[in-house]
Amino acid sequence: MTLPLARLVGAARRAARRAHAPYSRFHVGAAVLAGGAVHAGCNVENASYGLTVCAERNAVAAAVLAGARKLDAVVVASATVPPTPPCGMCLQTLAEFGSAALPVILVGARGARVELTLGELLPRAFSKKFL
Ligand code: ZN
Repeated sequence: MTLPLARLVGAARRAARRAHAPYSRFHVGAAVLAGGAVHAGCNVENASYGLTVCAERNAVAAAVLAGARKLDAVVVASATVPPTPPCGMCLQTLAEFGSAALPVILVGARGARVELTLGELLPRAFSKKFL
């Protein structure tokens, strides 16, 4: 499958601009591809810091709301060099809807880009097979 990378990166970067990050000022956007559709999310912080939800999980929630249950690709956009990877909680959330081969593409400032798979980022994900 040829990924619509420009579409995904554009959606992730636009989402990052919508982030609610008044505490960290760390704006992150994410876009997931599911069944040909792109779903985006941004980080949403809270004055009670522990309630903050990352961009990746918000993008997954948008995809699930639209009926998706299988992810085909993920793009995470930040303004860092090197680009920011998903946190552990988000990796586990991605593992619920993506295989170890799921492409996870990280884009940062000044053209920085890293292409990985979910399996590389979370090689021993917890799954229903352990239940
Ligand atoms: Zn996260």
